[in-house]
Amino acid sequence: MRFSIPVLLSLGASLLASSTAQAKGHPEAEAQVLDLSKRAIALRSVQGPGNKTGEVAALFRDALLKAGWTASDIEIVPLGDTAYLIATWKGSDPGLKPLVISAHMDVVEAKPEDWERDPFTPVVENGYLFGRGASDTKFEAALALSSVIELRREGFRPKRSIVIAYSGDEETTMDTSKVIAERLKGAELVLNVDGSSGTLSEAGKPLYWSWQGAEKTYVDYKVEVTNPGGHSSAPRPDNAIVQLAQAMERIGAYRFKPELNDVTRQYWTGATKIEPDPKLAAAMKAFVANPNDPAALQVLRANPATVGRVSTTCVPTMISGGHAQNALPQSATANINCRIFPGHTRPEIMAELEKVAAMPAAKFTDVTGDDSVEAPASPVRPDFVAAVGKAVKAAWGPVPIIPSQSSGASDSMWYRALGVPSYGASASMIRDSDEFAHGLNERIGLLNIAPGVVYYTTLLTDLAGK
Ligand SMILES: [Zn+2]
Repeated sequence: MRFSIPVLLSLGASLLASSTAQAKGHPEAEAQVLDLSKRAIALRSVQGPGNKTGEVAALFRDALLKAGWTASDIEIVPLGDTAYLIATWKGSDPGLKPLVISAHMDVVEAKPEDWERDPFTPVVENGYLFGRGASDTKFEAALALSSVIELRREGFRPKRSIVIAYSGDEETTMDTSKVIAERLKGAELVLNVDGSSGTLSEAGKPLYWSWQGAEKTYVDYKVEVTNPGGHSSAPRPDNAIVQLAQAMERIGAYRFKPELNDVTRQYWTGATKIEPDPKLAAAMKAFVANPNDPAALQVLRANPATVGRVSTTCVPTMISGGHAQNALPQSATANINCRIFPGHTRPEIMAELEKVAAMPAAKFTDVTGDDSVEAPASPVRPDFVAAVGKAVKAAWGPVPIIPSQSSGASDSMWYRALGVPSYGASASMIRDSDEFAHGLNERIGLLNIAPGVVYYTTLLTDLAGK
């Protein structure tokens, strides 16, 4: 994930007794998951000189070739210093649209001197696999891939084609992500396995599992006020710094209209049932009943884990202005970072901010790069909900399942923007204390391997059809 893995809930001590699922083992697949993850972590697939993303793609290709895919089923396409992988397992019914498994092979930069262990040397220790990409997202990419191979090994024949589509720059420019989504826009559904989906208690019990059905749109607006300037001994009525400050004060105090969509409505409803803080749980319940309930809004907006789920948010993040201590400022500039609730356009939100700022001298410009695009929420599809429900239960036992909308962006954005339903739904569960994606000492619990293979083989069997 590019910006952050969504914090779902501030769950405290273990709430729910969970039964460990009794599943038959998949020893060959389980061994392959660890082997591929370790070899992928050892390849430094970081943007820039020496980027080894293409070698990660080759590692995965070779595993597929060994398992029965033919060379013509697999493409590795170089793009700039990176590459992407598309591997197809043809379904028996050519009339069915394909199922896409999406992940990324690139990782965020990691400085060895800052880490306790070398980030690009995989280390297995105390039940964890350590290394850059362990949780974001080489382990999960290897887990999904090894599970597809396991299905083939077991003699499964999909009705619907299964396409493994792994991007090579999700953490940076998303150029390969865009190309892949455009090429696969005829897909039935995308299963995005980037990041972890489940949360364990600190004692290691599954607390809840979440699938992601929507993302807010990332946007930056530049706001600039310019004046003729002059000597500071002769002030004029207009002053760029003062004008910009007044505009920022109004924008900082503004709250966008609270909203619900199908995904967030189910999120709030599900979260209400497991949130241990009674005040927060009551606010969630009141918000679903009436999104304009002022008391509920006050509670949800005061909590960093819930504020982003209520509405569009915009916040000034940078400011600069003036050019000399004894001169009237010729310009003052601010950056406003917004996370737009699905269903609104960038120009629409900019127009709303201009109105709020009420400062005709302030010029607004959308300066978001082309690595962000407006994407609708994916529908809450009953076939998908049923299939993940069954797969999670087979893997982890009866844990609550809560759909979510995140404030960051993933490869799902590109598919959703083209009208393809995409769901963030990976197998792995982590403790809050194990959350090191993009940070130091990234790790993933090995306890995810066995249930993970059960999850993917169950889910893919249902979604691809026998
Ligand atoms: Zn990721």
